[in-house]
Amino acid sequence: MPDKIIVAIDGYSSCGKSTIAKALAQYAGYTYVDTGAMYRAIALYTLKNSITDNDAVIAALPDIQVGFTRIDGAQHVTLNGVDVESQIRTLEVGNRASQVSQIREVREFLVAQQQKMGDDKGIVMDGRDIGTVVFPKAELKLFLTALPEVRAQRRFDELVRKGEQPDYEDVLKDVNDRDYRDTHRAESPLRQAEDAIVVDNSHLTPDEQMEKIIALFNAKIINLKS
Ligand code: C5P
Repeated sequence: MPDKIIVAIDGYSSCGKSTIAKALAQYAGYTYVDTGAMYRAIALYTLKNSITDNDAVIAALPDIQVGFTRIDGAQHVTLNGVDVESQIRTLEVGNRASQVSQIREVREFLVAQQQKMGDDKGIVMDGRDIGTVVFPKAELKLFLTALPEVRAQRRFDELVRKGEQPDYEDVLKDVNDRDYRDTHRAESPLRQAEDAIVVDNSHLTPDEQMEKIIALFNAKIINLKS
């Protein structure tokens, strides 16, 4: 039995996937990979270079290098070697990420890199297709959900903390639009893997959710060892 496992965390946008994935990775001593940040980095590249056409996005892929670096203990995404973490967390980049992630070639480009990152296991990866496409054999798959209104409020609060002045109705519409695109796209739509455990955190405090997920992780490790 492997000492380390792969944990795949999927779910809708603004469900707190990255918070939980980061905390679980820290608890387990695993590597955390935020795949949304990788799609956002490609989105940022297309915005910066005014690339709107899908064919042009595909043609640009060989010029795009997405990576991660650690700054003060936190993971930052890099685009062609430059730390772009603070630039990718805007509504504009999120929306563009949702569009470029519909392109099959973009997905293949990033999925290949993500699968390589799991070679040695000991990884917690979050996204939309981790349990279904990237690691269909992941030992633990979690599918996070929360009510759209709860997620919109969380995203609204996050944007305010960053100094933006969002409109709640715009944020809610954005959450609903993104859900629709993520679940209806032709390429790897967001769906729950059959063997994923659903965690609805609409009414859970962060601590309650963390307790639940750590219990699921520990139960899986014990189960695999027995
Ligand atoms: O998770 P985050 O909101 O940062 O992701 C940005 C966008 O990237 C999502 O709206 C989704 O369309 C896309 N994405 C994806 N597959 C992943 C991760 C993110 O399609 N594994």
